[in-house]
Amino acid sequence: MKVLDVLLDLLFPPRCPFCDRLLGLEERLLCPRCQARLPWTREGEREFRVEFAARCVAPLWYQDLVRDSFLRYKFHGRRDQAGAYASLMSQCVLDRLWDEGPELVAYVPLSARRRRARGFDQVELMARVMARELGLPLAPVLRKVRHTPPQSGLRDPARRRANVLGAFAMARGAQVEGRRVLLVDDVVTTGATLGECARVLGSAGAAKVVCVALARAGQDGRE
Ligand SMILES: [Zn+2]
Repeated sequence: MKVLDVLLDLLFPPRCPFCDRLLGLEERLLCPRCQARLPWTREGEREFRVEFAARCVAPLWYQDLVRDSFLRYKFHGRRDQAGAYASLMSQCVLDRLWDEGPELVAYVPLSARRRRARGFDQVELMARVMARELGLPLAPVLRKVRHTPPQSGLRDPARRRANVLGAFAMARGAQVEGRRVLLVDDVVTTGATLGECARVLGSAGAAKVVCVALARAGQDGRE
């Protein structure tokens, strides 16, 4: 552990990102109570289909503590929670997607306007930590070119697809031809956003796109 990390831990002791309790010295990422009660995706739920992507995984369901925690992160400035989220996703990638040989970490970006309003891009921050943990380059190859109403306001899958169609493009000078891309997002519901990003990456010549999200929001009332 670096000296700076030790000092930061003293000044801002690590908290469980889900219940916000101070973590004990032996506890990493999250507290044992949350470890036991979080809505983890089970075998058969952890992997799901997204158009234009080879495989997609998420460690959690977006409900209860996970939703409360994520809203604190996204809207109430709790950027310290990004590290634990990223580690849970990295673990999922190592367990499930590593044999796909991802070569770079891309992410679903916010529009410039929303990023300015929020002060940070919540997915970029997680992707940055993941890239470091996985030893892969962070590649901001996508950009959002059209401002879209939040997907959460739309229930119908066809409308969600239409809402994001053409909303993303390759960043200037971005190069993914022949590369295997790991694409990161936060919450996935129908997979419309991930699918659209995977389509753009595929059109730019990516050899393969695999996706990881922090959590799945169910359409069957689990959300
Ligand atoms: Zn906890």
